[in-house]
Amino acid sequence: MSLDSTISDSTISDSVILGAFASALDPADVISDPVRCRSYECDGLTGYRVVPRLVLLPRNAEQVAAAVRVCHEHGVPFVARGAGTGLSGGALPVADGVVISLARLKRVLEVDPVDRRAVLEPGVTNLEITAAAAPYGLYYAPDPSSQQVCTIGGNVAENSGGAHCLKYGFTTNHVLSCEVVLPDGSLVTLGSDTGEQAGPDLRGVFLGSEGTLGITTKITVRLLRAPESVRTLLADFPSISAAGDVVSDIVAAGIVPAAVEMMDTLAIEAAEEAVHAGYTVGVPAALVVELDGPAEECEIQFEQVKQICDRHGCTRLHIAGSPEERAAIWRGRKAAFAAVGRISPDYFVQDGVVPRTRLAEVLDRIAAMGEDAGLRVANVFHAGDGNLHPLVLYSAAAGETERAEELSGKIAELCVELGGSLSGEHGIGTDKACSMPKMFGADDLAVMGRVRSSFDPRGLCNPGKVLPTPRLCGERPGKYRPHPLEESGAIERL
Ligand SMILES: Cc1cc2nc3c(=O)[nH]c(=O)nc-3n(C[C@H](O)[C@H](O)[C@H](O)COP(=O)(O)OP(=O)(O)OC[C@H]3O[C@@H](n4cnc5c(N)ncnc54)[C@H](O)[C@@H]3O)c2cc1C
Repeated sequence: MSLDSTISDSTISDSVILGAFASALDPADVISDPVRCRSYECDGLTGYRVVPRLVLLPRNAEQVAAAVRVCHEHGVPFVARGAGTGLSGGALPVADGVVISLARLKRVLEVDPVDRRAVLEPGVTNLEITAAAAPYGLYYAPDPSSQQVCTIGGNVAENSGGAHCLKYGFTTNHVLSCEVVLPDGSLVTLGSDTGEQAGPDLRGVFLGSEGTLGITTKITVRLLRAPESVRTLLADFPSISAAGDVVSDIVAAGIVPAAVEMMDTLAIEAAEEAVHAGYTVGVPAALVVELDGPAEECEIQFEQVKQICDRHGCTRLHIAGSPEERAAIWRGRKAAFAAVGRISPDYFVQDGVVPRTRLAEVLDRIAAMGEDAGLRVANVFHAGDGNLHPLVLYSAAAGETERAEELSGKIAELCVELGGSLSGEHGIGTDKACSMPKMFGADDLAVMGRVRSSFDPRGLCNPGKVLPTPRLCGERPGKYRPHPLEESGAIERL
């Protein structure tokens, strides 16, 4: 058996492929220099790297479609790329394939304040949507912490979340329609701008499909009216379980906060060191709770939240007294992932979900697993919806990569064991495709495979992501490591 990892028809010469793409796009927008292509070798999951054959920088939807048609015609695999902030290896290139960057499709095409919607090209960043809507008193609700740079195309592909998704829902709840270049190069619209559509919800199928069903070139999103009042507090607790109990009690009281975020000692230390946001270094746990809505309701519920915090031994309550203080609290929370780079040379960001009632239990078990592995784990997460982000700290230089990767994978699988999910918002990508059978049975995976093939019968669109490929599942892209079957002598690499 051969373990040839290339998928495209590699007998086609580079010059033929290059010529075909150069006539579909402006030749200057096709990068073939391997050194320049290297800039696209990974996304936020930096442990996996593959240099693509070519990088394409189309300027409009027609050029995206023309490029995909060339891929279809010549059997070249392709991977869409937004800002490359994905944390599950979704935009990892395919060695013999092309990366299609949407970075140049970055126009806000329309803001309609009457129907409260915006029409966007896929390269518009998440924060630019709110900036365009703000003059009308409107905003775009899903707010990933990477919102300054991540794109709406990437958000659609990952069905991204964020701190405020507890109350307002994920990307899928805010996207009305997507124009999509299908893997054969044809252009279709999924969903409708009124939000109503007869027949199956193909928009819903596309949302969260991690770039495996096509490339979106135009997105219509809902905009929301900015709330009348917003109240935010930062509360310290003597233990993770005390903070967890606060979250449960807030929900049990019938309050739906706009956001409830939790950070542990390590995450607080890293964030505070990075952005000096006024967090208390050394406390076991801190909660950020935000309520929004009509001023009167907000005030009553905010008092209830303060009382619940007191009941569970809150050691410090800091209430944001101005928009600047609110921004400082959020700066600390949103900086946490990147800030961990200050206390560890390398780290994996894990993303799993557990039922809220099992938060304390899962955090205890993660701590014990970290101790067994001899690695530190920082936690910063969306506590309100049980969406954990354990950050496994390690040093590649000290040879800890494989141990860290293994621990990170075990944490994701623990979430499934406790009745949760392998991913809350970062997607499956390359990172967790091999864990999918822990969550889904063979029949479920076969149905997902059939849906995928109905969009992409030739398997050219972001191959190797999301669904496990049994024959190659032990094989990792990036630096060559022998497959276990190779080591055993059962197969050979040609
Ligand atoms: C510091 C940091 C904080 C983060 N915080 C959050 C958070 O709070 N919540 C959250 O959900 N995520 C978070 N993320 C993860 C990441 O930012 C999101 O997954 C984001 O949606 C990725 O967008 P991108 O433009 O960077 O996409 P990329 O990383 O470029 O691509 C992601 C996936 O989308 C596909 N894709 C990109 N564009 C298109 C397109 N036009 N059509 C079809 N497929 C496409 C790619 O093929 C890939 O599979 C964070 C990441 C970082 C680094």
